[in-house]
Amino acid sequence: MAHHQILMVGAGNANISLAAQLLLQDKSLKITLIDPSDKHYYQPAWTLVGSGEFQIEDTVRPQGDYIPKGCIWIQDAVVSFDPENNALSTAKGETHSYDYLVVSPGIQLDWEKISGAKESIGKNNVSSNYLYETAPYTWELIKNFKGGIAVFTNPATPIKCGGAPHKIMYLACDYWRKNGVLDKTEVHYISGATMIFGVPEYKATLEEVLKKYNIRTHYAANVIAIDGDDSRLTYQTKENPFNDAKKLDGKSAGCFSLAQSDPNAETHTITVNYDFCHVVPPQSAPDFIKQSQLADANNPHGYVEVDKHTFRHTRYANVFAFGDASNAPASKTGAAIRKQAPVVCAHILASIQGKTSDASYNGYSACPIPTQYGKLMLAEFNYDNKPQMSFPFDQAVPRWTMWMLKKYVLPWLYWNRILTGKA
Ligand SMILES: Cc1cc2nc3c(=O)[nH]c(=O)nc-3n(C[C@H](O)[C@H](O)[C@H](O)COP(=O)(O)OP(=O)(O)OC[C@H]3O[C@@H](n4cnc5c(N)ncnc54)[C@H](O)[C@@H]3O)c2cc1C
Repeated sequence: MAHHQILMVGAGNANISLAAQLLLQDKSLKITLIDPSDKHYYQPAWTLVGSGEFQIEDTVRPQGDYIPKGCIWIQDAVVSFDPENNALSTAKGETHSYDYLVVSPGIQLDWEKISGAKESIGKNNVSSNYLYETAPYTWELIKNFKGGIAVFTNPATPIKCGGAPHKIMYLACDYWRKNGVLDKTEVHYISGATMIFGVPEYKATLEEVLKKYNIRTHYAANVIAIDGDDSRLTYQTKENPFNDAKKLDGKSAGCFSLAQSDPNAETHTITVNYDFCHVVPPQSAPDFIKQSQLADANNPHGYVEVDKHTFRHTRYANVFAFGDASNAPASKTGAAIRKQAPVVCAHILASIQGKTSDASYNGYSACPIPTQYGKLMLAEFNYDNKPQMSFPFDQAVPRWTMWMLKKYVLPWLYWNRILTGKA
C-alpha cells in the first residue's frame, strides 16, 4: 500500500486549485492526485459553445499540463473509501493510505432518471450544454430553428451551475428575436425549482427578461421522460397547471430553489410536444461517494458530509471535501470553489502545523447570467441569499462589461491564475 501525506480524489477545478495553493504556501508538501481523466475541461464556457460564441475545442486541455509541478498524478479512479483506516481503493485494484484526504470528484449526471433522455440526446432536436459532446449541437439547433415549441428544462435536484438551464434560454430567445423566429415560437421553461432565482434582487431582473421574451414558466415540475422519436416530453407537477395562483413553497439557495412536495397534493402528469428541447439532467454525488461512509446519510443526493464553513468532514477530521461533491448548501460553481479553496488550504496547513485556523467560507457563489448576446448580469451572493457584489455598480443590471468578463477574462483567469493557485 502506498502512503501519501495529502491525497486528493479528483483533479478538477477544486483540487487543482487547492494543490497549487498549498504548494505556493509550502513547497515541501507531498501531494498526490488521483483522477482517471487525461483531459481537463473548462465547463463554464459550454453555455457560450451552445450559443455559438465559443469553440468547444477551446474548453479542453491536457490534464497533465495542469497538475501542479511537484505533485504526483495517478491516472486511476477511486472506487471505495476506508476512512477508519485512512485508506482508499482504486479501479486498478490499488490501495492508498493518507494523512489528509481531499475528496472533490465533481457531480454525477443522472441521465437515467429521465426515461429516454440518453437515447434522445444529441439528435432528434434534443441537446444539452451539460455534455462536452452535445454542447455544439445546441448551437446547431438554435441556429437552424424555424419556430414552433421550444422547451428548456431544469431538474428538481441541485445541479452544477444552477443558472445554466436558463442562461441558454435567454441567448436562444435573443437569437430567435433578432432573426424573426421568436414571434413564431412558444418558449416553455419547465423547472423543478419554485422560482427563477433565489436572490430577490437578481430574480427581479430575470422576471423582466422572462416577460421580454414571453417565456412561459412551469415550476415545481419534474421531467420524467423524453421521447425523441415522437418529440414529446413528460413531466410531473403538484402545482395545478390550470391554476397559476396555487404556487408551492420552496427553500432556495442562490441559483436554485427546491420544491417541497406536499404529500396531499395531487400529482399531475403532463406531456408536451416540442420542436426544440434543451435538457438538463438530475444530478447527485458520484455513486462511489453515495455508497461510502463519507456520505451524508441525511442528504438525498449522497454528498460528502462536511462543515459548511470549513469543508472538514464532520466525522473524520483529516478528511475534507469541497466543490460540487460536498453537501455544503452553496451553489455548485467554480466561482464558489475560488472562495472555498483558500479556506480548505488554511485548515490543512494549520492541521499539519498542529495549529487551528479560523478561516471560514460564507457561502459565496457567482452566476454569470447572459440575458442577451452582449449583456450579462453577474449575480454574486452568499448563504443568506444576499447579494455580495464585487464591483462598485449595481450588478443586478445586465451589462456589456460583464459579458466581456465572462467571454474573455474568466476563461483566461481559469487556465492561468485559478488553476495555478494565484486567484
Ligand atoms: C454547462 C455548465 C455551465 C457552467 N457554468 C459555470 C459558470 O458560469 N460559472 C461557474 O463558476 N461555474 C460554472 N459551472 C460549474 C463548474 O464547472 C463546476 O462547479 C466545477 O467544475 C466543479 O469543480 P469540481 O472540481 O468540484 O468538479 P470537476 O471540475 O467536474 O472535476 C471533477 C474531477 O473528478 C474526477 N473524477 C470523477 N470520478 C472520479 C473517481 N472515481 N476517482 C478520481 N477522480 C474522479 C473527474 O475526472 C474530474 O476531473 C458550469 C458547469 C456546466 C456543466
